This record gives sequence, C-alpha cells and structure tokens, in this order.
Amino acid sequence: MRSFSFLFGGSCFLCRGAARGVLCGDCDAELPRLAPPRCPRCALASPRGEPCGRCLAEPPPYDATVAALAYAFPADVLIQALKFRGELALAPFLGALLFRNRTSADVIVPVPMSNQGLRERGYNQAVEIARAAGRPIELGLCTKQRDTAQQTGLPWSERRRNVRGAFSCTRRLDGKSVAVVDDVMTTGATLAEIATTLKAAGAAHVENWVVARTFPPDA
Ligand SMILES: [Zn+2]
Ligand SMILES: [Zn+2]
Repeated sequence: MRSFSFLFGGSCFLCRGAARGVLCGDCDAELPRLAPPRCPRCALASPRGEPCGRCLAEPPPYDATVAALAYAFPADVLIQALKFRGELALAPFLGALLFRNRTSADVIVPVPMSNQGLRERGYNQAVEIARAAGRPIELGLCTKQRDTAQQTGLPWSERRRNVRGAFSCTRRLDGKSVAVVDDVMTTGATLAEIATTLKAAGAAHVENWVVARTFPPDA
C-alpha cells in the first residue's frame, strides 16, 4: 500500500502544515472524537451509558451504533472531501478511526447506493471506508433498488418514508451478526430501513458502524 506521505506530499490535508500522516498532530487533536457515556443503541449522549429515552420509547430496528466522531469541524471537512470531491485516500484514514477495536461481526455491509447514484458519483464512500476494515466485505449482499430523494433535503419526519422499501437483501442471513458501515449517521432513517431489511432476511444482530454522528437539534 502506498503511504499517505506519498499521496499527500507530506503536508496536512487540513492546514497544509508538515505531517507524517493525513493530518498534522494539531489537526488530529482537533478531531471531535466521541467519548462515552453514550446510548449503546443510537450513540447519542446518555448520562450513564444506558439506552436513551428515545430508544426506550421507540426502539430502533438496529441493535447498536458505534460512531468515531461527531459530525463537526474538522471531521465534516474530511467527510465532505471524501464524499463530494473524490478524495478517496481519506477513506482508509477515516476507516481506521472507525475500525479501531472493532472486529466482531459475521458480515460487514457498506450502505449501498442505487445504480444511478453510483453512476453519478463514480464510487460509494461507504464501500471505500469499509475496505479499511481489512476484512471481507459483501458488496452484493444489500442493494438499493431505487433512487431516493436526497435525505438531506427532507424534513426529518419524512426521511423514513422516503427510504421505505428502498433496500433488498440478496441472501439469507439467519443467525448472523451484521455491521452496516456508513460515513455519516443523521436521523438514522436509512440505517433503520437497512436494519429492517437485514432482519427480515434473518440477521440476528445489526450494528451501525459510522465514522461520524450528527445530533438532532434538541439532543
Ligand atoms: Zn494540520
Ligand atoms: Zn438511543
């Protein structure tokens, strides 16, 4: 594998100062790493690390969420560069933050894009991040059947409806534990729909592994 210093010319991706890796020490220290205690189910802050009120009131179809960073500066800059500007070399860096200590799942599934979405972007950032797990990932296991409206353009209340029935699973997963990898988790509507789809295919346990988590305005 080529080294980052080769790819980035030895300068920090954010401040262009000297760096041995993707970021210099100062920028790396600025990353908004998420610390416990968090709700194990949705990764929002939870005083004693217990399931939060939302998850107790309305349990989501996924069993757990692990998020490495808050979706805030400068993590948002890195994720947007990966997602919208083709800076694919950021994927192993972000993936390494996510996969540190995280290796227990029978199957790793990146959040799929529709064929149309994939044609437009040319790559799926979730796939690029998932490759950093250093374990087999199943690209064809979960597919997105139709193009959906951009979730970011929709009110939160409509996001779940927008993705309903959008995904399908191409084989049975009876008794398996599945990790679903994505760059950002916002409301969790897409991940909830995927978890529902995976469980309908027999999955026993579904976890979201996301690089960054956004937080609802009232949380
Ligand atoms: Zn820097
Ligand atoms: Zn929760």
